[in-house]
Amino acid sequence: NQMETSNDDLISYRKQHLGKSLSLQYKVPIKTVRGAGQYLVDQFGRKYLDTVNNVAHVGHEKYEVVKAGQEQMALINTNSRYLHDNINDLAKELIETLPPELSVLHFVNSGSEANELAIRMVKAYTGERDVIASEVGYHGNTNMCIDISSYKFDGKGGSGAPEHTHVFPLPDAFRGKYRGKHSAEKYAEEVKKQIDIVHKKGRGVAAFIIEPIISCGGQIELPQGFLAKAYKHVRAAGGLCISDEVQVGCGRMGKTFWGFQLHNVVPDIVTIGKPLGNGHPVAAVACTPEVAEKFANGMEYFNTFGGNPVSCAIATEVLRTVKREKLQENALNIGTYLKEELNMLAREFPIIGDVRGLGLFLGIELVDSNMNPLAAQTDYLANRMKDHGILMSTDGPDHNVLKIKPPMVFTKENAEELIFYLRKIFAEDFMQF
Ligand code: PMP
Repeated sequence: NQMETSNDDLISYRKQHLGKSLSLQYKVPIKTVRGAGQYLVDQFGRKYLDTVNNVAHVGHEKYEVVKAGQEQMALINTNSRYLHDNINDLAKELIETLPPELSVLHFVNSGSEANELAIRMVKAYTGERDVIASEVGYHGNTNMCIDISSYKFDGKGGSGAPEHTHVFPLPDAFRGKYRGKHSAEKYAEEVKKQIDIVHKKGRGVAAFIIEPIISCGGQIELPQGFLAKAYKHVRAAGGLCISDEVQVGCGRMGKTFWGFQLHNVVPDIVTIGKPLGNGHPVAAVACTPEVAEKFANGMEYFNTFGGNPVSCAIATEVLRTVKREKLQENALNIGTYLKEELNMLAREFPIIGDVRGLGLFLGIELVDSNMNPLAAQTDYLANRMKDHGILMSTDGPDHNVLKIKPPMVFTKENAEELIFYLRKIFAEDFMQF
């Protein structure tokens, strides 16, 4: 049945009947019919090595996760107003990974919903609504999330920062406003400047939101020391600190389970999404008891699907699989190896200006000798890698960063294959664009 409709027919139907602002990946799009571990398979049985999908965290269609969902689906699925072991079990699994301060959870269905709830919480806690966010940050697709996502409101179709959002420059030590050694202090000063702007308007700061590695921004690692300094400024102004772990969480960083732990800070709120359900829509907001207390101001928080027994069975099995199969350690080992190999590649091919990221969350930025971004070449590389059966994605405000964020079961052989083909394609003659 999967064979019956040609890709061209699927595409023309999409064009007519699905939203015009939905995009398709690659010049010649792929139809995927199966997933297994770090591989995707198209309708012709062609296998692709997937370096893109950080949602299929423990591997595409992981047997134990699928089984947990199927078995629970056959028993009962209801909302969280009924008692059920699964929601408590998932809470316990998550709390075990978090610092003791973050001991209260709310379950939702997507990263956007998690950030949406986080912003409601900071508003309830502080009585303020002004949010400080990073340039090119992305936090989700809802009204409020778009309002705090410079990636969207400063990009195509956007109309700039709303009145209550205050954007500080992308803390990019490679091509950003401040580069090199002392950039952490300077970027923290930029956060402070935004706080002062809020105060000058006679208002207070509700929150500071940032990802530990800015993903849509092009895998930007925060300069060491920046986050602690920024948190200090924000807290001195009475604001709360949110760590958006939707992309980087659940062990992907290798060294630590959560991204904020790389920076020795404890946020007031952590938002968790993509990897938690391994493809099933489940997400969470972790917060301090103080935040949870103020949010519970009498208005009930009801979420039809959030925390249902099926989602919780799936997410619990995902977290247990990460532990059982030592996937955080794998992210550290394979990620470190891959980064070393990418650095060697960068010495061979000078258009690789920067190699960055941690664990299995890496990026390589392509620039010319004057540090100008090479978007067309980055796009060429991703499409050529696809011709060789390897899926890669591109991102960054200038579309010149190749991203690597595969399922966490990625092996050393997968890394070697990736490097082999990157070396082959980088040697092609494609600078003419
Ligand atoms: N935060 C970050 C950092 C994200 O990358 C995304 C999705 N790309 C979201 C939030 C929103 O998550 P969702 O698409 O699940 O709503």
